[in-house]
Order: sequence, then C-alpha cells, then structure tokens
Amino acid sequence: MKLHPQEIEARFRRHAVRVTRQRTAIYAALAETTSHPSADDLYQMVKRQQPMMSRNTVYYTLSVLRDAGLVREVNVGHDMARYDGNVSMHHHLICLGCGQIMDVMDDDLNRLQLSSGQARGFDVLGHRVEFHGYCVSCRQARRDVPSRRG
Ligand code: ZN
Ligand code: MN
Repeated sequence: MKLHPQEIEARFRRHAVRVTRQRTAIYAALAETTSHPSADDLYQMVKRQQPMMSRNTVYYTLSVLRDAGLVREVNVGHDMARYDGNVSMHHHLICLGCGQIMDVMDDDLNRLQLSSGQARGFDVLGHRVEFHGYCVSCRQARRDVPSRRG
C-alpha cells in the first residue's frame, strides 16, 4: 500500500523513531510490498531512488524499525531474516522451495487460544501461525524432475 510521507512521519513519531529521509524511504518500500524482502532485497529496491544509501544503513534502519515495533521480522527458519511492513495480526504461508512468503489473513487463526493449562501462567500477547510447504510453481518443478528409477 502506497503511504503518504506525512503518514510515515506520524507513525515514526508515534513510535519515537527519529525521522530521516533514508529511514522514510526504507519504511515506505517495505510498507508498499507484500514480498517480505530480506535486508539485501530491500537494499536493492531502495538503492534505485536513493543511490547514496549504504547496505549498513538499511540493516541498521531495519533493526531500529523492528525494535520500535514498526516492522516485523519473519524468521523462515534458516539463513537470513525477512521483513514485513505489515504489523497487523496475520499469518504466513512459507515455501520451502523458493522461500516465498505469502500473507494469510484468517479470523479463525487470529482467535486461536491456549487453554489455561497450556499457557502455563503466561500472559499471552499474541501468536503467529506459519504454514510450511511448496508453492504452486515449486510443486510443478518437483513433478517435472525426471524419475531416476527404471
Ligand atoms: Zn516456491
Ligand atoms: Mn506478512
């Protein structure tokens, strides 16, 4: 979703994040995509409009935005973190083949509750559900691999 710079500044202020042009550009790029990019992907995306941007600035800004609660880290369970500009409650479909991450919006999943026994005294503030498997094109590619048998 395209965000107005004034809206971004308002969000930064609400989360006590100092506003800079580079931070605004990084946050805007992340908020406008649903691709859940890695820090490196994001660097490639932002560098087009901000040629002076360094990779370190992107990494550092992501940690600032994450700590402030403006950005969510999605851990795919291996190698590098992926980032999500959508911090509203939602869940993910994760492809084990190509690594793509798709949003799952589902009220039933949002309403998941632990029994008090399972919560073990935790004051549970939220939860995230990840579905792991193979996307349509990875399933296709796996079917097309010629069998070595026979
Ligand atoms: Zn895939
Ligand atoms: Mn997401």
